[in-house]
Amino acid sequence: MAAPSGMIPSSVDANCAICNAPPIPECPHEGERLTLALDHAMGRWAQLEAIRDWAVKHAKNNVISKFHQRRHSRYQRTLGFLQTLPCYGLYITYNGRPPITPQQLGEIQYHIRNANEAFQAGVNEDWRRSCMEYPAILDYFLGLVQIEFPADHEDVIRYPAFAGGGAPLVAEQRKVKSRRDSVTTEHRKKEKRRG
Ligand SMILES: [Zn+2]
Repeated sequence: MAAPSGMIPSSVDANCAICNAPPIPECPHEGERLTLALDHAMGRWAQLEAIRDWAVKHAKNNVISKFHQRRHSRYQRTLGFLQTLPCYGLYITYNGRPPITPQQLGEIQYHIRNANEAFQAGVNEDWRRSCMEYPAILDYFLGLVQIEFPADHEDVIRYPAFAGGGAPLVAEQRKVKSRRDSVTTEHRKKEKRRG
């Protein structure tokens, strides 16, 4: 409804801040600009970098240690197989020149060569398999990250320092913590309360 002439309507909507089009119909510019600004702010937000680094570090360690376990048990199985070969003990004892017939020697060399090739192929497969688990492992570690939001009634929200509201800026240094850090903090808080 238009205001009577000569009076100022108490609330009017502003035009688009970007293209100055009237507020209705709504154009997409402000939303787009906000999304862009948020993307840039997220890029500057050090916590995001910290989360990424933390998740990647733990995921890598996890993948590498699983790979080492798989390679180790594969090595044990391969060694176990070789030890079942006749003359393998002699072959080792005599440093690859055991006193056996050329035919026996040829046979054991053949098995060792095959076992080596199978071991290498198996290790490649172990590594590939370990790396394929990255998505699930990253999900797992990211799931351990805890994010805290201050409540709407807290002063940091009601009087943000950048707006000149006069409230002290008491933003927490670390709003994002790993679960372990968080547990430790909780523990300390409880201790303080008791003391
Ligand atoms: Zn616009």
